[in-house]
Amino acid sequence: MAAQTLAEAAILGGHHAQAFPYFGAERRGAPVRAFTRIDDKRISIRSQIYEPDMVVILDETLLEIDPVVDGLRSNGSAVVNTRKAPSELDIGVSVRCATVDATSVAIEALKAPVVNTAMLGAVAKVLDLVTLENIQKAIADRFGEKLGPRAAEANVLAAQLAYDGTKEGRCLGARSIVQRRMWLPEWDEVPTGVALEPEHIEGVAVGPGSSIQNMTGTWRTSSPKYDREKCIRCLRCWFTCPDVCIKRLEDDHVKVDYRYCKGCGICADVCPVDAIDMVKGVHEW
Ligand code: SF4
Ligand code: SF4
Repeated sequence: MAAQTLAEAAILGGHHAQAFPYFGAERRGAPVRAFTRIDDKRISIRSQIYEPDMVVILDETLLEIDPVVDGLRSNGSAVVNTRKAPSELDIGVSVRCATVDATSVAIEALKAPVVNTAMLGAVAKVLDLVTLENIQKAIADRFGEKLGPRAAEANVLAAQLAYDGTKEGRCLGARSIVQRRMWLPEWDEVPTGVALEPEHIEGVAVGPGSSIQNMTGTWRTSSPKYDREKCIRCLRCWFTCPDVCIKRLEDDHVKVDYRYCKGCGICADVCPVDAIDMVKGVHEW
């Protein structure tokens, strides 16, 4: 939707544009890519974009698991959904960068962490080829047609708030660009206790232990806050967390690994003494 809306905004500004997504065999919420190509003349090329002038990253944790900035031109730019300022952000290439806390903006404007229209507001701030006005008009058209006038209005507001809250600067380029790992681990990477020979795991779709690569912590919209004083160390939360992101400490107190916590609230639900409170927003304690 964001890639198409950006293309429509460019067309409203008198440019030629095309947009298309790239899906893997994955469910909603899993990493996906989409491409927008804009030019002043008619576009005949139909390939994916391998050397983009701009990369828009809707989830900062993708930097840990996917080579999302691979091919980005050295005079290009990046727009990233993060709470960090550009100078605090290392994306693997030092380029002009704009950052925005699109998740908070989306929660405020849409009451849901759907960040695509907020990110378009940030894009309007740094991409000379489109204006905020045309982005908002394209959002109103596309979202109004699909989801109705109220949704259109809320998404237009999300773009405006993100535009106003976008910080511009230059990001760092020190980290090495992650190349997506083979989905299956090598046989000697299989966790202890899971004794499989290479021939046993051949053909299996999901490798044991591979979820460690997918830092899903930014998916959450509420965060568990742990009260050490109230905790009676029953370990129910540790046992029931579906993401295995509650660590058991030596004294049987617990600690949440927020890199993976999706904010499902099950830990707070099962705690018999209300020692875990779900607090709105992406927090860490
Ligand atoms: S909120 Fe859900 S994912 Fe996060 S620690 Fe609690 S049970 Fe685990
Ligand atoms: S369920 Fe509650 S009391 Fe039990 S260990 Fe977890 S936080 Fe502590």
